[in-house]
Amino acid sequence: MKKISNINLGFGRDHLAIPGPSNFPQRVLQAMNRPAPNIYGDELKLVTEKVMRGLTEFANTKGKAVIYISNGHGVWEASLANLFRSGDTVLLCSTGYFGREWGLIASRLGINLIHLDVGSNCVIDSNQVEDILRGDEQRNIKGILAVHTDTSSSSRNRIQEFRESIDAANHPAILVIDSIASFGCERIEMDSWGIDVLIAASQKGLMTPPGLAYCILSERAQVYSREVDQTERIISPYWDWQPRLNPERYYDIFSGTAPTSLLYGQLEALNMLMEEGRENVFLRHEIISEMVWECIDHLGSGLGALTLNIPEVQNRSNAVTTIVAKGYDFSKVREWISEQGGVDLGIGLGFSSEEFMEGRSVFRIGHMGHLNPHMILGVLALLEAGLEKENIPFTAGGVTASNKHMLKKLQRATI
Ligand SMILES: *Cc1c(COP(=O)(O)O)cnc(C)c1O
Repeated sequence: MKKISNINLGFGRDHLAIPGPSNFPQRVLQAMNRPAPNIYGDELKLVTEKVMRGLTEFANTKGKAVIYISNGHGVWEASLANLFRSGDTVLLCSTGYFGREWGLIASRLGINLIHLDVGSNCVIDSNQVEDILRGDEQRNIKGILAVHTDTSSSSRNRIQEFRESIDAANHPAILVIDSIASFGCERIEMDSWGIDVLIAASQKGLMTPPGLAYCILSERAQVYSREVDQTERIISPYWDWQPRLNPERYYDIFSGTAPTSLLYGQLEALNMLMEEGRENVFLRHEIISEMVWECIDHLGSGLGALTLNIPEVQNRSNAVTTIVAKGYDFSKVREWISEQGGVDLGIGLGFSSEEFMEGRSVFRIGHMGHLNPHMILGVLALLEAGLEKENIPFTAGGVTASNKHMLKKLQRATI
């Protein structure tokens, strides 16, 4: 008999468990698979309007959505350029790599930063925000930038408390929130939480290929950005959201040709979210993320090496989980799982110190978007196999712990 020396089990449907892009539903791919529509026709106009409406409905706001053909970095820049002038000061609240990167873009645009950096394993205490704002007697701080879920650390800020702090300090600064990782996964109540500008992108919880990014503007943000001194604005025509908000023709909404296929895909994804219902979307992500945490806690118990990066349960995101295998090079496990299991896990991002082996002892599981228990259980089961294969200590039974938790939560949710 012929000996099979290089067996590879990785043939089958691949699963991307990195925190974005997420898994694109077949329905979304199908909706995109069509000939180019006429970019001057009524149909595409209607699709665009529905996408805008879907976004504001899901954000629970009376505000307006501006769509860019862009990734998240583009709307980071768009939000800054439309709201601030070179020389303005903003308060940046960072809880990981993405917050810090946003700050670098602001600095490049000539914006002065007051940087409240709490590291990569906790969240912002809004009392600190309040203290800083109270101390700003001249009202120099024009805006507050914060990331809802920082995808590197997997922490989740309590944005609802930010507004209370801003109001308590009676400060006029505008609140700009990056929800690129959390939108479509975790609860965001834009208006009742007092968010002025909410940033999102198509490829994570919104389940659509990268290429569309959004600034959702409250009524206040629309007025505020109109009143920023026009002569001192740092904005170039493409990023200016004024013509996009008040287009003379459909063409102005995108400052040129519309992103035809992506719009059809995004609309289908929004339809899917609405069919499922916001509350169920949030609950599903909550249960699936808790399944991940139960599994990791179990694997890491006893002499196990794995720990969750965010120790406090209430500070954890429901969209992504960052895990540390302290003292072990996890990259070999990741490679093995990818090759033989058909699953890709996320790399450690922003953990460049020696303590984390320059990030090699850190990995992330994305659980955003189109995901159900069988998909996440496959990831977790392979993780156990990979640890065994690479001799990283763990306590077996993580998947069972995960299943038990799912059943408990389902029972509670149906009572
Ligand atoms: C992914 C992500 C970004 C960057 O988005 P790109 O599309 O890669 O530019 C920014 N912020 C957060 C929180 C993210 O998760």
